Amino acid sequence: MSNNPLLPANIDALAAYSSAKSEKLTGTTWLNANESPYVKSVNISIEDLNRYPDPQPATVINSYATYAQLTPEHVLMTRGADEGIELLVRTYCQPGQDSVALFLPTYGMYKVTADTHNVAINGLSQSLLLDGSVDEIITAVGNSKLVFICNPNNPTGSLTSLDKIKAIATALTDKALVIVDEAYIEFCPEQSASSLINEFANLVVLRTLSKAFALAGLRTGFTLAQASVLAPIRKVIAPYPVSTVVASIAASALSPDAITSMRRQVTILNALKVKLKQWLAASPAVLHVLSGEGNFVTLKLADKNSFHVALEQGLVMRAFTLYGENDWLRISIGNEQELEQVKIWLDGLSQSTT
Ligand code: PMP
Repeated sequence: MSNNPLLPANIDALAAYSSAKSEKLTGTTWLNANESPYVKSVNISIEDLNRYPDPQPATVINSYATYAQLTPEHVLMTRGADEGIELLVRTYCQPGQDSVALFLPTYGMYKVTADTHNVAINGLSQSLLLDGSVDEIITAVGNSKLVFICNPNNPTGSLTSLDKIKAIATALTDKALVIVDEAYIEFCPEQSASSLINEFANLVVLRTLSKAFALAGLRTGFTLAQASVLAPIRKVIAPYPVSTVVASIAASALSPDAITSMRRQVTILNALKVKLKQWLAASPAVLHVLSGEGNFVTLKLADKNSFHVALEQGLVMRAFTLYGENDWLRISIGNEQELEQVKIWLDGLSQSTT
């Protein structure tokens, strides 16, 4: 606590989201933020930067609607999926009164955003979501206003079935918004809940260009929902959230050719993930590998010090506390050369343990 009398208590108590970049790690191989290893080259020429941009650039909205097999009224463009999370909390939750349900462990920004807005957390477990009955889940959700389902879940990689999402949305009709965060859905597109949006007025899907589209630096996400859900959010969002420069690059990233190229890269990354999982399963330095569906693999180390050994080799991965144990690690799927660094690290570890 800062003792700053100007700060509201919930802001004073905030633990800032600790991102890979804010940790200021040094290294040569970056496999810690679930970024794409593919570098997009962009070529833009913009002449009218003296003018304010289109608040929701029509070309991008139309292209994304086509890509997601929805109509433009279902699409809101935001500064990353993170802004979508923030807008949902700001628009739909009454500070000091409402709560949001999360299935832990899960993506950290749901909690940071709720804390920032003085909205309570109804912290449930990921195993309840995966293994519990719909009745048990609905009882535990209680009167939470928003229910965040990260699918596939970061950091465990687990998937909630579409049948379960449908059943939860049905049971919470007129009671809560079910928000399916599909930041990693391009790595398992058949699992997307986006086709359910026409059917469910309380379903929201979050998307991003930061992962499979290889544009984390662009800060572009999409909130997909029925027009009635998006209408109040459109009143809350900043007047010009998307710069002209961002809109231009996002439009080119959503051209049919660019989407084909993204899908080709996903195929390669998914194949590399299979290879990485095999190496991990065979390594005595690794106790347990979670079956991940995103562009990352999460594992439990036999010895936490192995993480520091990797850092000394310039290999940066994400260390985690999961299930109360601080020896978990998440490895993003990089390119072949980057994963070779993981192999060298693993081989070195098994030599030191044998
Ligand atoms: N949701 C999940 C599950 C994520 O892992 C991330 C980023 N790591 C985000 C949302 C935020 O994405 P964006 O870069 O679009 O803000």
